[in-house]
Amino acid sequence: MEIKVLTNVLKANDNIARDNNTDFTTNQVLAINLMSSPGSGKTTLLENTITLLQADFRIGVIEGDLQTTIDAERIQKLNIPVVQINTAGGCHLDANLVRNAVKNLALNEIDLLFIENVGNLVCPAEYQLGEHKRVVLLSIAEGDDKPIKYPAVFRNADVLIITKMDLLPNSDFELARARQDATQINPAIEIFEISCKTGRGLTAWCDWLRQQVKC
Ligand code: MG
Ligand code: ZN
Repeated sequence: MEIKVLTNVLKANDNIARDNNTDFTTNQVLAINLMSSPGSGKTTLLENTITLLQADFRIGVIEGDLQTTIDAERIQKLNIPVVQINTAGGCHLDANLVRNAVKNLALNEIDLLFIENVGNLVCPAEYQLGEHKRVVLLSIAEGDDKPIKYPAVFRNADVLIITKMDLLPNSDFELARARQDATQINPAIEIFEISCKTGRGLTAWCDWLRQQVKC
């Protein structure tokens, strides 16, 4: 019974996600869903990515949070369109929340739309938003066991970004293990190692984004 209810919820969500995807594609918007635990550096990665790409692309952001507009305010300082979704305690974004948020954006004036999901490694994996690409972040501070503990989000992602690489020398994080586990779960996953503090890896990540926007 429980399982059937969830299946129906997800089916309804997927239908709305398809409409979102059609709208993005029609307007030539590349939509990226950013997922991770709280504190892994999604907003910081966004700030750095936007700064590097905003001369070449028109960028927009949808910020998902339980409450507050702290992250949206950070993004707004970069002078790009940003819409905040407060889920009022909800632990993931769904396609309908995104659909309503998109009404506040001029899609025909955006090339690249980042959707920062609620910090959570569990249910965001199950909810399609209409995105073209899914990116999961894993910070060195979280530990290398996350791919095997939360396989769904890694299985469904196109890209894994290992963040806070500057912390690696003083941590127990086994980089090879995290990479190997993620690749075993999802052989097609592309992996970037980034430190927003030192700038390491940002160029490779931005090059990947440039390539996707062109496609
Ligand atoms: Mg954030
Ligand atoms: Zn949830």
